[in-house]
Amino acid sequence: MTKPLVLEQVVKQFGEKTAVSEISLQVEQGEIYGLLGANGAGKTTTMRMVLGLIYPDSGRILYNGKPYGNELQHQMGYLPEERGLYPKVKVSDQIIYLARLRGMSASEADKNLKYWLDRFEVPEYYDKKIEELSKGNQQKMGFIAAVVHKPKLVIMDEAFSGLDPVNVELLKATVKELRDEGTSILFSTHRMEHVEELCRNITILDRSKTVLQGNLTEIKKRYPREEIILNTS
Ligand code: ATP
Repeated sequence: MTKPLVLEQVVKQFGEKTAVSEISLQVEQGEIYGLLGANGAGKTTTMRMVLGLIYPDSGRILYNGKPYGNELQHQMGYLPEERGLYPKVKVSDQIIYLARLRGMSASEADKNLKYWLDRFEVPEYYDKKIEELSKGNQQKMGFIAAVVHKPKLVIMDEAFSGLDPVNVELLKATVKELRDEGTSILFSTHRMEHVEELCRNITILDRSKTVLQGNLTEIKKRYPREEIILNTS
């Protein structure tokens, strides 16, 4: 069966600097795949290539066995590290607008947005501007913007940064729900404990290079936890 996402020896340079060197990985349908690494390891660059925002210098990225095409914009969702929402625009206006850009009707987007606001127990945020919300709640709105159009592949860059433990648990539960519904998720973090609960397979990057890769249970059998953490912090 073709896989939702395959990276084959993907390389990205910025001038002399190699941001990502020959990363290869495969994400299954209904899998949360963990991309671990310290700041500057190459996680964001990898994700931006998957999203088609920047192009690899070499290697291939395949989506269901095919190269990038514009229709993928409708099938992918992105939660960037900096959330990517306009502070002065109302939650409903911008999330519905983003969903429409990705091919969803306004009425369906509105229904899905209300579902998620209820799910997070904040229906009153519908009419609030992003800048009126706390950092953690802005993060939740970023999450909704990434999934409101029901993408098949979601790219989450440091999705839990700036969240308190209660909200981390809430988002973890929703990420697992998406997985159980068959969504594939590429999930980056520098925190080992976040992938331990969510991910079956991981890649650990260190200064652009893949240093460990595979099934997390197998990796934990082979390497002490401290060694894995050392590579990611
Ligand atoms: P962080 O969590 O800090 O974003 P990261 O693992 O996501 O870390 P990247 O942002 O992918 O890492 O960066 C990898 C390397 O590439 C870093 O050394 C970074 O400075 C460099 N880099 C990233 N984007 C650019 C760019 N547009 N121009 C030049 N260098 C870049």
